[in-house]
Amino acid sequence: MNVLLVRGDITEQRVDAIVNAANSSLMGGGGVDGAIHRRGGPDILAECRELRGSRYPDGLPAGQAVATTAGLLPARWVIHTVGPVYSRGEDRSHLLASCYRESLNVAASLGAATVAFPAISTGVYQWPMRDAARVALSTVRQALSPGSSVNEVRFVLFDSAAYAVFEESLAETR
Ligand code: ADP
Repeated sequence: MNVLLVRGDITEQRVDAIVNAANSSLMGGGGVDGAIHRRGGPDILAECRELRGSRYPDGLPAGQAVATTAGLLPARWVIHTVGPVYSRGEDRSHLLASCYRESLNVAASLGAATVAFPAISTGVYQWPMRDAARVALSTVRQALSPGSSVNEVRFVLFDSAAYAVFEESLAETR
């Protein structure tokens, strides 16, 4: 099992599944979500709309994950997960951990071997990068079992500051 850090844009990753830091509406938004729908084309949104109509009439709850195909992107699937909004008053890290765990469960159910994650909740949802990196890396390490189809998890960090924080956190927890 490999955990890799990459600096770059998640929409360009040639992996089986990329994970989208979506919002519960599944109807698109800013940040990674916007980039995925922009580059992936309208098919992804059409599938999201269908999921809203069938399985998630009230939206996808924080901590859960669901897959669509990846439209025009080089990946095969997009796994949409909803991160928690950061709160100073309330510890929501179990929900952030759940995003990683549930996304990996969905990836395994698809038979995906390679999965790319963004730093969920660290943009609009304002989770401090250092803490988000710790939760992300420890959860993925624990969640990956030898029996799973997933053999590579790639964290795709959009800027050098995020990359540096993940690198440090990876070294600390290795
Ligand atoms: P959230 O609402 O979960 O905070 P955002 O999309 O606002 O999600 O941000 C999550 C993280 O993804 C941020 O660190 C942001 O810099 C990063 N990001 C934005 N666009 C991309 C992209 N195209 N590829 C990878 N990461 C991205």
